[in-house]
Amino acid sequence: MTAVFHRSLAHDYPVAVSGEGIVIRDSQGRSYIDASGGAAVSCLGHSHPDVLAAMHAQLDSLAYAHTSFFTTEVAEELAEMLVADAPAGMSHVYFLSGGSEAIETALKLARQYFVEIGQPQRRHIIGRRQSYHGNTLGALAVGHNAGRRVQYAPLLIETHHVSPTYGYRHRAAGETPEAYGARLAAELAEEIERLGPDSVIAFIAETVGGATCGAITAPPGYFRAVREICDQHGILLILDEVMCGMGRTGTLHACEQEGVAPDLMTIAKGLGGGFAPIGAVLVADKVFQAFDRGSKLFQHGHTYLGHALACAAGLAVQKVIRRDNLLANVRAQGAHLTRRLAERFGNHHHVGDIRGRGLFQAIEIVADRGTKETFDPALKLHARIKAEAMARGLMVYPSGGTADGIRGDHVLIAPPFIVDAGDIDTIVERLAEAVDASLPPAG
Ligand code: PMP
Repeated sequence: MTAVFHRSLAHDYPVAVSGEGIVIRDSQGRSYIDASGGAAVSCLGHSHPDVLAAMHAQLDSLAYAHTSFFTTEVAEELAEMLVADAPAGMSHVYFLSGGSEAIETALKLARQYFVEIGQPQRRHIIGRRQSYHGNTLGALAVGHNAGRRVQYAPLLIETHHVSPTYGYRHRAAGETPEAYGARLAAELAEEIERLGPDSVIAFIAETVGGATCGAITAPPGYFRAVREICDQHGILLILDEVMCGMGRTGTLHACEQEGVAPDLMTIAKGLGGGFAPIGAVLVADKVFQAFDRGSKLFQHGHTYLGHALACAAGLAVQKVIRRDNLLANVRAQGAHLTRRLAERFGNHHHVGDIRGRGLFQAIEIVADRGTKETFDPALKLHARIKAEAMARGLMVYPSGGTADGIRGDHVLIAPPFIVDAGDIDTIVERLAEAVDASLPPAG
């Protein structure tokens, strides 16, 4: 019996009691390699001594001071570090407690920006299908994870969705990746024309898709074309890097690899590495200046924003990543993971696609490689893979096969940045066993 209202009421959860490095242990003495960093969160693994020491020191002085009264040294220092390493033109940081709050904040910042500059008629947000931006109602509305969204549809604000970048399924035969990217950008331009360019607030996208599609990268040139289209109409570009950001794809921000800078960027998971709940919106100076020249008041706020202990955790995590040059390890081990996945699954009858970047990669499971037909969603293959992996002491992040019927089951692999090649080999071996044990009998 449990008094905790768990996510799935049909499931018994092991009791996690301790964690060290890339391993979590449960109350039965079993250990699990955290090959998903939870949900792409634990970038330094568990119990990192430098982070714990920084958090203890912060607790000894001040855990929390409400931001309507004070700022704190630790929040200011973290913001300065984030701005120094941010994409061009970003000058300020708004702290939150997680990803969904960051998305809600970015949407409201974008809307108020246009009020501040005298364009209050702008009211539309355009997102992408098969995207995930969080579970609060605004984030759910701009995202399009069908399974998570469908039952709340009547409560959601009106939003508009264009095609995701999903080359494995949607790139036409004979179409180059560049032509595919241009076609998707043209679709966005058409949607903007249809709505009326001066009625659109923002386009929002995950730079690399995470929870809904599994490590989906954009075709070359797509984001540069999107940036141009937004600029042409004065529309803001919001990049959601809650999952793919803060080093996970091998550069601090995934958009660096796309050659674009957004107007607003949401970050969270890897910012605090799971040591404390923290998220943030990075804000372009152009947006900040509109507030500074205008009302000087962002009509928003949450009780725990800028929480000193959370900022201390984030600051310590970010210092360790820089000091230990961990992004180089993300790139090196990411390349090793790519090779090992190709060796183990490249000829697998039921793995249709292997994709991703850095330590953010996925395999897509299909019933038939030739036709790309998915398994029956009722099989809940992704859930079976998760259970089989847990039984083998491995945490991975499978999802898929639910209400939209157009994507297969996939498994996301997002281990901590401290993994070595031996860890990657073990992860891939255990995953292969878990996948094979989950597949329905042939015929
Ligand atoms: N955006 C993206 C891209 C995410 O992956 C997530 C969480 N999986 C969120 C937003 C929401 O973050 P949170 O769960 O911290 O609210």
